[in-house]
Amino acid sequence: MAQIDGLPPLRDVIAQHGLSAKKSLGQNFLLDLNLTARIARVPGDLSGADVLEVGPGPGGLTRGLLAEGARKVLAIEKDSRCLPPLTEIAAAYPGRLEVLEGDALDINPLAHLSPPIHIAANLPYNVGTELLVRWLTPQVWPPFWQTLTLMFQKEVANRIVAQPGSKAYGRLAILAQWRCDVQIALTLPPQAFVPAPKVHSAVVHLRALDAPRYPADAAVLNRVVAAAFNQRRKMLRASLKGLSPEIEDHLNAVGIEPTRRAETLSLEEFCALARQLA
Ligand code: SAM
Repeated sequence: MAQIDGLPPLRDVIAQHGLSAKKSLGQNFLLDLNLTARIARVPGDLSGADVLEVGPGPGGLTRGLLAEGARKVLAIEKDSRCLPPLTEIAAAYPGRLEVLEGDALDINPLAHLSPPIHIAANLPYNVGTELLVRWLTPQVWPPFWQTLTLMFQKEVANRIVAQPGSKAYGRLAILAQWRCDVQIALTLPPQAFVPAPKVHSAVVHLRALDAPRYPADAAVLNRVVAAAFNQRRKMLRASLKGLSPEIEDHLNAVGIEPTRRAETLSLEEFCALARQLA
C-alpha cells in the first residue's frame, strides 16, 4: 500500500511527527497497512459513498478507506498532533479527505456528509461504546448510516453479537440485533497494535436493517430490557415487577413463563413483551 498511495510507511510517519502514543487518548495504533486495508474492505464497496472515520490517528485506516475508493472520508480526531500527517494524506487524495479536529462526542458530522454513509473507527473502548449506543438509538430509523465497522475489545464485541443463553447476552446484543445484522468481521491479537494493549480486539460489522426485525416501541423495549438485565439473576416476575403490577399476567399473555430469567429470552420474545406492555 505504501507504494499505492505514495505515502511513507506508518512507522516513519509516527517517528517523523513524534506521535508517541498517549494512554489518555486510548492510542493503540495499527501500523500494518495490509491489515487496515482488510478492515477498510469490511463495509463492502465504498465507491460512491462517504465514510465517517472517528479517531484516525496517524491515518492507517484512513489510507485504507481512501485506497478502497471511498468518495470522501470525513475524519474526526481529538489529538492535534495527528493533523499534519492527516494533511499529507489529504494531499495524496485531493478533495477526498476532510479532517475535523475535536471530540467526536461533541461534533455533529452530518453537515459534512452525503448519503450513502458508512462509519468506520478504531476508537478507545469507552468512546466507542458510547458512540455505538448513540448510533443505534437515533430518533428515526433507518439511521443516517448504512454500516458501522468498529474495533472493540473482544469481550465487548462478543456482547454485541451474543445469543440468548450466553453470559455475554444483554442490552448491547438486543440494542444492536433488533435493527441490524451484526457479525464479528475479524479478531486481532494485541501485537497488531503499537503499543500492544492487554486484551484481544475484534472488528464488529453492523448493517442497518430498513426496519426493526420485530415491531416494538423503542422506548418501551429499552425499559423492559434494562429492567430485565439489571437484575439478570432474578426471575422475570421479580425483575420486571416495577414495570407493571400485573407483570405475571403480561408475561403469560405472550407465552413467557414468569419464572424464566432475562438471558433466556429471545429478541422476538422481548419485542412481544414490549408490545404487550405498551
Ligand atoms: N485509527 C487509528 C489507528 O487505527 O491506528 C488510531 C486508533 S487509536 C486506538 C484511537 C484514536 O482515537 C486516537 O488517534 C485518539 O487520539 C483518537 N480519539 C480518542 N478519543 C477521541 C474522541 N473523543 N474523539 C475523536 N478522536 C478520539
